Amino acid sequence: MSGAAPAAGLVDRFGRVHRDLRISLTDRCSLRCTYCMPAEGVPWLPGASMLTTTELVRAAAVAVELGIREIRLTGGEPLLRPDVVDVVAALARLGPAGAHPEISLTTNALRLPALAGPLKDAGLTRVNVSLDTLDRARYQQLTRRDRLPEVLAGLAAARAVGLEPIKLNAVAMRGVNDAEVVDLVRFAVDQGYEMRFIEQMPLDAGHTWDRTAMVTQAEILDALTGAFDLTPVPGRGAAPAARWLIDGGPRTVGVIASVTAPFCGACDRIRLTADGQLRACLFARSETDLRSILRAGGDDAELAAAFRGCLAGKRAGHDIDDPSFLQPERPMSAIGG
Ligand code: SAM
Ligand code: SF4
Repeated sequence: MSGAAPAAGLVDRFGRVHRDLRISLTDRCSLRCTYCMPAEGVPWLPGASMLTTTELVRAAAVAVELGIREIRLTGGEPLLRPDVVDVVAALARLGPAGAHPEISLTTNALRLPALAGPLKDAGLTRVNVSLDTLDRARYQQLTRRDRLPEVLAGLAAARAVGLEPIKLNAVAMRGVNDAEVVDLVRFAVDQGYEMRFIEQMPLDAGHTWDRTAMVTQAEILDALTGAFDLTPVPGRGAAPAARWLIDGGPRTVGVIASVTAPFCGACDRIRLTADGQLRACLFARSETDLRSILRAGGDDAELAAAFRGCLAGKRAGHDIDDPSFLQPERPMSAIGG
């Protein structure tokens, strides 16, 4: 689209302006978190269906022309993509000088000891790390892998190179890690990280989600207020997490209450899967096939039309809590969380 007049932003029919693109770099993963994947994994996307790095960067370049300001890399485990550092370097150069998109990454941290430095040098600004427990046996039970020490080393590596602020994500699960929420917040405060709890969502490949068993935001806050003085932080904008100052601040804790307090009204996110499908929502039941346009030699205007077409169908909300809700066919690991 270079040379053309700047395109109008990515606005949907509810007036939501989209500035955040989540790109899944792979659906593969080195862990098997129980809330995400069955022990045997899931049928992986065929290699030939995966976007090449050239295709992925081209799609992202069009999105940046259309007003995307933040690109979050995710998966599966994004650090399993062999050329992840090159991907970051290419994305960090998109857009005009002085107005490059911010590039961040959500990861299980296992490869951060090796990659934190190269990623920082390539232009990555910050990381979100999944850490559901500080107990090694529980980590093994929850992720089906005995790898907690590597996660902690990965976090230390990210902090050492300044990939900050570092946010820690924990999915709260009844009878598994819900008794640990205070300890997780204490750990995050001590280490200089921001703890965020996520309500479990119906996105696991095994379809094991149970609304009645889910730990709610209200329960998480109840547990935390016994230990900390929490003050709401105003001005959340499009952020998924509602945040509270801990004991007057400056440290904060967040809760992503997708189920009991959805934040769809302010959503500014659009997603690109590793196999080149655009999704207007984590819970969308339809996709827009960007890969076919890329491989058929489509020009930037066609790609831009696909972004707009995807958002034209975006619904006002996900309705997880409605009896008519249907879980999307793709599991979280193949959408990109
Ligand atoms: N592998 C990376 C990781 O774990 O950070 C990135 C992908 S993972 C799908 C992204 C985020 O989704 C993680 O924070 C994970 O805890 C969260 N997640 C996965 N399944 C979930 C579910 N069923 N409900 C809520 N969050 C979930
Ligand atoms: Fe892998 Fe992330 Fe899913 Fe865990 S949550 S199995 S680390 S993709």
